[in-house]
Amino acid sequence: MSDILLTTTVGSFGKPDYLQKARNANARGKLSDTELTELERKATEEWIRRQESIDLDILVDGEMYRGDMVAYFAERLDGFKIGGLVRSYGNRYYHKPIIASKVSRPKPMTVDWFRWTQSITDRPVKGMLTGPYTMLDWSYNEAYRTRRDAALALAEVVRQEAEDLERAGAKYIQIDEPAIHARPEEIDIAIEAMGVVTQNLKAKTISHICYGDFAAIYPQVLKLPVDQLDLAMHNYEYRWLKLFDKDPFTKELAIGVVDVHSHRLESVDEAADGIRRGLKYVSADKLLPHPDCGLKTRTVEESLDKCRVVVEAAKKVRAEVGKKVPA
Ligand SMILES: [Zn+2]
Repeated sequence: MSDILLTTTVGSFGKPDYLQKARNANARGKLSDTELTELERKATEEWIRRQESIDLDILVDGEMYRGDMVAYFAERLDGFKIGGLVRSYGNRYYHKPIIASKVSRPKPMTVDWFRWTQSITDRPVKGMLTGPYTMLDWSYNEAYRTRRDAALALAEVVRQEAEDLERAGAKYIQIDEPAIHARPEEIDIAIEAMGVVTQNLKAKTISHICYGDFAAIYPQVLKLPVDQLDLAMHNYEYRWLKLFDKDPFTKELAIGVVDVHSHRLESVDEAADGIRRGLKYVSADKLLPHPDCGLKTRTVEESLDKCRVVVEAAKKVRAEVGKKVPA
């Protein structure tokens, strides 16, 4: 593994047809939980082998066992009820969780999956959690007096999960906050809540911030207590980098250098150009190229093609950076 321009992905990959069918059958009571878990493991292992074969550096389990990134946790925490169907972005409908009473975590929610996935590969696998602010923003709060109170209560259960992941050996823990710019006036709540989550962690901490108005929360978001921010950039023509001219970026940057919402496959040179743009603001040991988020909406072949371009581009730019090392 190189120690500069490490490549990775945001977190989720597409589920194979057999797993989608199995999930539906399980929901109808036609397939046991044990049988479903076996198929989830099979699908996870397939994605691990694919990531290894194209030489990504930091792997993900692909989230074969998760549906919605908030509901997955809401279903496993005490205090939540699952509400009726609501429409979110695009044409996606989901059951919006309700925080109905005091939230607590009866047992770890992702640790067994992390441990199993890490056991089948020598490469580091990221622990993946949804952040407290996003859990709050994508739920109804009927239990806590203020949104800040609810966010801090959620932060406590996410902290417990993150610390368990670290104890299980996670070197990277990603705590996603795709909703952080939904209400820019609440950024201080998101920052305070993340501080609860990461206060005791020694693992590298990452937060993925999704499509949306990143400018509305910059530079305040630099106060988010994580080591690395993970951003889609290619889809935005790298416009967020311009913000760094005025207020220098102070964290590690996981930078999206191919557009996952386009079927067009970028060339290695185009992705390499994206990495070079990032290098104007962040040094090579703190810049991690990846595809923009949303790989789970792509076919296996498209996902692999996009990842392969990123890996090849990183290798190309690593060689250039190597040559520039001062004598
Ligand atoms: Zn995203």
